[in-house]
Amino acid sequence: MNSLTKEFSMTINGKAVLTEKTVPVINPANETIIAQVPEASQYDLNDAVKSARHAYKGWAGISIEERAAKLEAFAVALGQNREELAQLFTLEMGRPLKAGFGSFTEIDSACYWCKEIAKQRLPSEVVEETDKHFVEKYYTPLGVVGLIIPWNFPALLAMWKIAPALLAGNTIVVKPSPYTPLTTLRMGEIAKDIFPIGVFNVVSGRDELGQWMTEHPDINKISFTGSTATGKKVMRSAAGNLKRITLELGGNDAAIVLEDANPKETAGQLFWSAFSNTGQICVATKRMYIHEKIYDEFLSELISYASSVKVGDGMDPKTLIGPIQNKMQYEKVKALIEDAKNLGANIVCGGNIDDNQPGYFIPVTIIDNPPEDSRVVTEEAFGPVLPVIKYNDYEDVIKKANNTEYGLAGSIWGKDLELARSIAERLETGTVWINEFQVMAPHLPFGGHKQSGIGIENSIDGLKEYTNTKTIMVKKK
Ligand code: NAD
Repeated sequence: MNSLTKEFSMTINGKAVLTEKTVPVINPANETIIAQVPEASQYDLNDAVKSARHAYKGWAGISIEERAAKLEAFAVALGQNREELAQLFTLEMGRPLKAGFGSFTEIDSACYWCKEIAKQRLPSEVVEETDKHFVEKYYTPLGVVGLIIPWNFPALLAMWKIAPALLAGNTIVVKPSPYTPLTTLRMGEIAKDIFPIGVFNVVSGRDELGQWMTEHPDINKISFTGSTATGKKVMRSAAGNLKRITLELGGNDAAIVLEDANPKETAGQLFWSAFSNTGQICVATKRMYIHEKIYDEFLSELISYASSVKVGDGMDPKTLIGPIQNKMQYEKVKALIEDAKNLGANIVCGGNIDDNQPGYFIPVTIIDNPPEDSRVVTEEAFGPVLPVIKYNDYEDVIKKANNTEYGLAGSIWGKDLELARSIAERLETGTVWINEFQVMAPHLPFGGHKQSGIGIENSIDGLKEYTNTKTIMVKKK
């Protein structure tokens, strides 16, 4: 498809808003412009914030059951538009309709999250009842919340923020990535007919729009998902009015495969832990440590699995791995592969990139035992390139896995669950999976340690991030 005929509008104060200036959206599978979306000015952002502020008292003032009912209606409406949203998603993001995730699309996941988060509650708690005091703890909403979304999961990661922010009684201004605004803008158009005017605003534009949000004096919180480098900028500019922040940032996750793991049984799962979504997942396996006893057998299983997976345009139902989402990321991943080649690394799968073909395609690339200090090991690749590294000592592999500024997640694979558990406890990350990968759910807390983030998403802890804690103490006679 070369272009979409539909117009995409921002949602501000309950109205569809277009702008004269626009930002082109590119299909990464063929590099054609498929749509133009509004480029919000600072005036547009001010209008969105003003309308969210105006709507705040009314929205915070209704019961949580009423707000939950609106979220449920939103989930139903998204589900009714499932096919259109899923197509849009693949066109702008590149991820195949099926993508090794079964038939559960990103839109299905977003609907599921919306429904499940809507069931969460934050009741007040009596924290002291003595003959001197009665003390109760409440959770109150923050006000207007700015939600800044990356391009790798534009619908689901938006929902991780939208649902708890609204349920807690805040009003929102959502900003998708300039690379993938279409699905999120459509979500706003659908929300417009469900939520009261001003509660749910969506603005699109370039990166500077994100910066204006973080600096805006009338936004009370920023929930941001993106790179660690941008997260640091968000933190700096949020200081102006001491905004609350939740930062979900980058990772360089290690998978540690123990000596008793079965290469045949685990290679397929480990393949997908690294290459799902073309490797563009914050919690993708980005370094794979294999015990020397099974290294050779495991590597050949991995290579043979890789050869069975079709890379191509996500609109083709046979495709399981799509292109890289954008040119900037494509160039970055290419540079990492080039660097490994220059170091003389043994590339056992992929590695050759055909720049003459349209689309940001990079074949599944597996590098056999590159040096620990090579860029492909130390940097977050965020693409289909995987260093596989041999180890022979558990103390040493734990040290290597932790030798990074990141601390998002990791996984351990093998039969000795006691050993796996003891290693899991020593990994400096927010999540560790044992014999599975990337399992996330609305009730499970998710967040980064070290420079992978601040705060939590999902679970009751994630809901609390959209509130202030308030204590009321009554003196007894
Ligand atoms: P990015 O940091 O470039 O952009 C993220 C968002 O921030 C976009 O909407 C962008 O427009 C906006 N932005 C850009 N400059 C800004 C600024 N100065 N102030 C405020 N907002 C600004 O990240 P990306 O390339 O879109 O996403 C990839 C990164 O996101 C990877 O590092 C990945 O690991 C990380 N990520 C983390 C998680 C997580 O949950 N921890 C999930 C997905 C992605």
